[in-house]
Amino acid sequence: MNEMILLPGREKSLRRHHPWIFSGAVAGIKGDPAPGETLLVRDARGQAVALAAWSPASQLCGRVWSFDPAETIDREFFRKRLRQAIGLRQQMGLNAPDGGCRLVASEADALPGWIVDRYGDWLVIQCVSAGADRYKDMFLDLLMEETGCRGIYERSDVSVRQREKLPPVTGTVRGETPPDKVLITEDGVRYHVDIRHGHKTGFYFDQRENRIAVKHLAKNRRVLNCFAYTGGFGAAALAGGATHVINVDSSAPALALAERTMQENGFTASQYENRVADVFALLREYRDSGRKFDLVVLDPPKFVENKGALPRGCRAYQDIARLGFQLLNPGGLLFTFSCSGLMEMPLFQKLTADAALDAGVQGRIIRQLGQSADHPTALAVPETFYLKGLVVEVQS
Ligand code: SAH
Repeated sequence: MNEMILLPGREKSLRRHHPWIFSGAVAGIKGDPAPGETLLVRDARGQAVALAAWSPASQLCGRVWSFDPAETIDREFFRKRLRQAIGLRQQMGLNAPDGGCRLVASEADALPGWIVDRYGDWLVIQCVSAGADRYKDMFLDLLMEETGCRGIYERSDVSVRQREKLPPVTGTVRGETPPDKVLITEDGVRYHVDIRHGHKTGFYFDQRENRIAVKHLAKNRRVLNCFAYTGGFGAAALAGGATHVINVDSSAPALALAERTMQENGFTASQYENRVADVFALLREYRDSGRKFDLVVLDPPKFVENKGALPRGCRAYQDIARLGFQLLNPGGLLFTFSCSGLMEMPLFQKLTADAALDAGVQGRIIRQLGQSADHPTALAVPETFYLKGLVVEVQS
């Protein structure tokens, strides 16, 4: 087997079971491995520490398959890991035939490079590393065998693949081709999903528990759902008895799907509005015209992509939270989220507290939210806990 030799001391993170090896930690490669090949990783003294997939084009040049160097990385190895991943979702009750969930969450399921989402009978897969790409055929066969799904659609059109010099790939890779739009049910609410063109694999499963939280707190409230995408929080709010919902997003196709979802659930045009707009501008417009709501959701795209972007990102989160607070009636609820892995909860809480001060309101946190349970966090990889949210009640 070809080998990766680390620089002195650089095995420390691996000993703590962090599965990433950066090129700066590598003294050399023994042999001439192909991209994605599995390498035996040794520390500077020659001790074997892990088996890792080789990504020669990326700074993140190794992703650990196993911290047991004696393991064999083969079909049965992947079958075992996949069964563990699927078993966890079954235990969580996420296996309803008409439902959906994340079945495989990359590092958090010890299957780095693979993301698999289930939409009813269909699977959508994203493959983001050279190692995952190399074993893709085997993994797809295993997915067919272990899930009995009707077909698998690939959405490997994410930018992270460029870092690995992997071309974008989309299309049906096993079984039947899924329909243009799929319909899933979650907590009694039906959602239309565009798995071919939507964000990620089509739907934000990481927000499932938070949609349910909105549903259970929305009764008799007027709701403003900012960065609504396909209206997930909006539909959940109406299902929970909200009196009216405005979904705001800059994407017209996303809101067109939100419209279908609203109709699918039997909501009438008087109960909701889907508004194509820039959230930053619309929040100011509403503030200036004195519009008020009883529940505001802020679920923006990732404002912090890297450490350098943190100060600017903080200002953006604080800016929208301030505006959100200004639009709330006394007793109103702000659901504010950050999906930036670099934004830690204490900082997010501080920004939100500052935003309330700026807005001149008093608030208290009534819930702290995170990513849903089918997006676990690898203990050694805090970055895999990326989504966090606060529910703040504005006091009267
Ligand atoms: N809340 C959604 C996911 C939001 S993803 C859900 O639970 O399904 C972020 C969304 O923000 C995307 O749909 C994107 O189109 C939208 N967006 C990004 N910048 C925006 C802006 N300045 N104004 C309005 N929408 C924006």
